[in-house]
Amino acid sequence: MTAYFDHTATGLVDPELVDFYAQALRDYPYNPAANYSEAKRGLTAINKASEEIGRLLGCRAEEVIYTSSGTESINTALKSVGWQTRPKAGQIVAPLGEHPASAETLNFLDDKLERTCNYVPLVDGRPDLSLFEESLATHKTDLITCMAVSNLTGAIYPVGEIQKLKQTYAPQARFHIDAVQALGKIPISFRDWGVDYMSFSLHKLGAPKGLGILLARNNLPLEPLLLGGGQQGGKRSSTENPAQALTSAFAIKKSLDNLAAEEKAANQLKDKFLAKIDALGLDYKKLSPEESVPQILALYIPGLRSQNLQTVLADQGLLVGIGSACSSAKAEVVSQVKALGLNGEPGYHLLRVSFNSRNSEAEASALAESIYTAVDRFGLKQK
Ligand code: PLP
Repeated sequence: MTAYFDHTATGLVDPELVDFYAQALRDYPYNPAANYSEAKRGLTAINKASEEIGRLLGCRAEEVIYTSSGTESINTALKSVGWQTRPKAGQIVAPLGEHPASAETLNFLDDKLERTCNYVPLVDGRPDLSLFEESLATHKTDLITCMAVSNLTGAIYPVGEIQKLKQTYAPQARFHIDAVQALGKIPISFRDWGVDYMSFSLHKLGAPKGLGILLARNNLPLEPLLLGGGQQGGKRSSTENPAQALTSAFAIKKSLDNLAAEEKAANQLKDKFLAKIDALGLDYKKLSPEESVPQILALYIPGLRSQNLQTVLADQGLLVGIGSACSSAKAEVVSQVKALGLNGEPGYHLLRVSFNSRNSEAEASALAESIYTAVDRFGLKQK
């Protein structure tokens, strides 16, 4: 038996979405850029999907760009602004501890384009708003980027407050949101949030991997990451895929339809799990702040090497996370964990448990017991 508690790394494949994708691949076999009418059906399908996504996420159809991943969407937005605003050379601001897709792109802008990137520390796992304000008030700013929901702790970031600060101090700056972990967990509106770019990844919703979306405000010029045949209005060259567009729209609709039910299920599972580890007397600290989505729970377990725990649990069929799966072996996990203020402690003690309605309470209970037993086995005395 396998019990999966790493939905933040990737959602369990949703058979309905996979079947839908496979059918759409069969239904639209031609290159949508071809001139025969059978191929044009593909373009019509993409436009219809973009209309639907626009309705669901509060943007215009023309603002939807299909990409290969959240990483590609983030790279496109940040590199585009970093490049276009280079002559003015104001600062770029981000909270500490962004996902490596953003953090590494900002490092690139810093190294290769000599852009100044300033990082705002976190307090209680969320960006410190007074330091954000200070940074925006004292430096000319070209770009702000932040996650809406942290992949490490599930913290919901104060995007509305950051937007207000931007309007006050840096109305000309561009604002990008990494909404990869927010989609399906909190309501999202591109228009109401007043941002310029938003990045999404559909595999987090159980869709096939390789499907991403970037929303880019249509009155802003975009520097494409991929140059070539000029597809998607020149914003992202490469043969268009109607099945991708249709499946993305379906996955988003499904996740929004299920948002309340998923939240309720995750809350119940999380409560069950926490009650069990408390009853067992596990020594831990909750790293997920109060304002977090219930689907992601980060714990700090003193003295524990979380990679060891992950392996021991996996041997029992219990799959948990310890940070960002795409870079678990790299230093970025450590820097993301350090941003939580665990200074002096390398980022080895973090356990990330993700809950989803496909988990049962019995699984949550079994996980709690196995963690307690495994920690005990590593020789850490419990209280
Ligand atoms: N941003 C966040 C917050 C994420 O959690 C992830 C994936 O883990 C990404 C970006 C990257 O998305 P993708 O795996 O689609 O490249």
